[in-house]
Amino acid sequence: MKYFASIMLLTAASLQASAVVDKNFDYHVDRFADIEVLRYEVPEFDRLTPQQRIMVYYLSQAAQAGRDIIWDQNGKYNLQIRKLLENIYTNYSGDKNSKDYKAFEKYLKQVWFGNGIHHHYSTDKFVPEFSIEFFNTQVAALPDTMLPLNEGETREELVATLTPVIFDPTVMPKRVFQDGSADVVLNSASNLYGDGVTQEEVEAYYNAIKVPNDPEPISYGLNSRIVKEDGKIKEEVYHLNGLYGPAISKIIYWLDMAKSLAENDAQKAYITKLIDFYITGDLKLFDEYSILWAEETEGDVDFVNGFIESYGDPLGMTGSWESYVNFKNQASTKRTETIASNAQWFEDNSPVDSRFKKDKVKGVSAKVINAAMLAGDAFPSTAIGINLPNANWIRAAHGSKSVTLENITEAYDMASHGNGFNEEFVIDNATSKLMDDYLYITDMLHTDLHECLGHASGQLLPGVDPDALKENGSALEEARADLFALYYLPDQKLIELGILDNPEAYKAEYYKYMLNGLMTQLNRIEPGKDIEEAHMRNRQLIAAWILDKGKKDKVVELVKKNGKTYVKINDYKKMRDLIGQLLAEIQRIKSEGDYQAGVDLINKYAVKVDPKLHKEVLDRFATLDIPPYRGFINPILQPVYGDTGEIIDVTLVYDEDYPQQMLRLSNDFKTLGY
Ligand code: ZN
Repeated sequence: MKYFASIMLLTAASLQASAVVDKNFDYHVDRFADIEVLRYEVPEFDRLTPQQRIMVYYLSQAAQAGRDIIWDQNGKYNLQIRKLLENIYTNYSGDKNSKDYKAFEKYLKQVWFGNGIHHHYSTDKFVPEFSIEFFNTQVAALPDTMLPLNEGETREELVATLTPVIFDPTVMPKRVFQDGSADVVLNSASNLYGDGVTQEEVEAYYNAIKVPNDPEPISYGLNSRIVKEDGKIKEEVYHLNGLYGPAISKIIYWLDMAKSLAENDAQKAYITKLIDFYITGDLKLFDEYSILWAEETEGDVDFVNGFIESYGDPLGMTGSWESYVNFKNQASTKRTETIASNAQWFEDNSPVDSRFKKDKVKGVSAKVINAAMLAGDAFPSTAIGINLPNANWIRAAHGSKSVTLENITEAYDMASHGNGFNEEFVIDNATSKLMDDYLYITDMLHTDLHECLGHASGQLLPGVDPDALKENGSALEEARADLFALYYLPDQKLIELGILDNPEAYKAEYYKYMLNGLMTQLNRIEPGKDIEEAHMRNRQLIAAWILDKGKKDKVVELVKKNGKTYVKINDYKKMRDLIGQLLAEIQRIKSEGDYQAGVDLINKYAVKVDPKLHKEVLDRFATLDIPPYRGFINPILQPVYGDTGEIIDVTLVYDEDYPQQMLRLSNDFKTLGY
C-alpha cells in the first residue's frame, strides 16, 4: 500500500521544525497543465560511508533500468509514442512560440509525467491541443532513422496506427476502467491484458488455478500479462527469459552489483532472493523475498524494486513496476519507532469489536527515510508513505515495513509555502494559526499512524476471503487506516510518548481532513465526473459520513460567508467519537467480509459529487493557481572515479531541468526497444 500527499498547505512554523532545510534550495522545476514538477533534496547523504553511497548508486541504476516496463504496462503504444514525440521535440526547428508547438510541448510533458498517454491519477487519456496537421508535418520532417518503427512497419503504417491512439478520444480513453457496469478488463487501455481478453475469462482462469483455502496464497497474477492465444487464456510471466526480459536483465545486473556492497547478511539474502525471483518469475520466491525484506531492519540503505502495487489493474492483481531507493532519516526515525513499539497498546485500546482485534500485533516496523531515487510507477508522481509487503498472510505472520518519505513530504511543504490556500479556504484566523503551528507535525503523524498501525491493525474472522470486498476493497482499506490514524491523533497517549506537545494539535489535522474530504480534493475531479480513485473515495467517505451523522448535533457544518462555502467544526470531541464509530463499522465490514455493507457505504458517501460545490471549489482554486498534482525529478547520482577507473564515491547533482532529465532517462535506460 502507499499513501499520497493531499493538496496542502504550508506554514512558517512547520518549516522551522525541520533541521535540515537548505533555504537556498530551489524546489520548483516546471509547471504545465494540472502539474507542477519539483525537485527534492537528499539530506544526510553525507553521513553515509562511500561504500553505502556507491550501493545507493547501484540500486538507483537498477531503479532506472526498469523505467520502460511501466511505460509498456501502462499501454502498448506508449514506448513507441514516447520515442516519436521525443524525436519530434529534439528535431524541431520551427517557431517555438507557435501555438501548435507550445501545445505539443505541453502534451509531451504530460505524457512524460503519466509514463504514457493517460493521466497518472484520473487515468483519462490526455487530449492533445496541437493539430493533426502539425503532427503530420513534424513526422514527415523526421528521417527514417528517427522513426520508432516495429519490424516490417512502414512510415505510413506507423502514422495510421498512432494517429487515432493520440488524437481520437474514443480510442483507449481510460487506462484503468473501474465502472462496474461494464467489463473492466476489456474497457481498460492498460497493457496488463492482451487484446480481446474479457473480465470473465480472467476471473475464470484464476479461479481455476487458485488453491482453495491456501493459508499462504501466492499473489496470483502479480507479475504477468494475460493474453488470449488461439482462443486459450495464458499468462505471459515477467522474468529474465520472459516478458520484459531485456529490462529485467539490466535490473538484475545492478542488483548484483549492489549485493556485493550489502551492509549485512540479511540484506544480502533478500537481494539474492529478489534476483532469483527476477530470473524465474516464481511468485513463491517473491513471497520468500518479501519476508526476508520485511524482517531486515538493521541496514541504513533499503529499496523497493519490483511489481508491487496493483492500483493500475482494474482487478487489483497485477503489480505496476516501481522502485524507491532510500536510506534512513536518523533524526525522524525515532518518532515512528516509538509509535511502532507501542503497537499493541493502540490495538488493544481501539474502539473496534474485540473479535476483530489482533491478540498480538506482529512486527510493525517503522522508519522515516530519505528517498534518493524514485522510479517506475513511483516517478514522477510519488507516494509519501509506503507499507509493504502487500500479501495479507505475510503481514499477519511476519509483519510489514512501513516507511515515511520525509524529504519528499518536506519538499511538498516547502514548495507550497505562501500559495494562498489557507487564506482562501480556511474559515478563520484561529484555525489558520493552528494549522500553521501544527499541521506539518500532525500530517506526518497521520501518515505514521496510518502506515505503521492502521493497515497492520485488525483481523479477519476465520474463513473470510481477504478479497471479499472486491472493487471497494482498496477504498475501504484506506478508510480503515485513515480512521485508525485520525482516532488516535487526539489521544493523550501521544503526549505521554513525547510525540506531541499540545493536546489541541490534532485539530489542525481534523480541520484539514474535513476540508480536503468535503471540498478541496474536488479540485482533482473534472466537472461532471464521479470520484473513482481509492484514496479520494476514502477521504470523501469519511468526511461526508461525519458531516451526515453529526448533522443533528451540528458537529461539523458547511457554512456560507460572503457567498463562499467553508467547513466549520463545532465539536472536535464529538467528531472524534464519530471517527471511532466509523472505524468500528468499517473494521466489522472487513473482518466479516460484508460486501453489501461496503457497497452501500461507498455508494452513499464516496462517489457522487455535489456539482454546485464542485464548481465553487474549482473556481476558487482557479484564482490561486495551485497545481492539483505534483511530482518530482530525481537528483543525479554522479560517480566519482579513482585512478584505475573504479567508483570510489558518489555525489549528488541537482542541475537538470524536467525535459533534460526525461530525455536522458529515455536515452540511458532504453531497454524495451525504440
Ligand atoms: Zn494506506
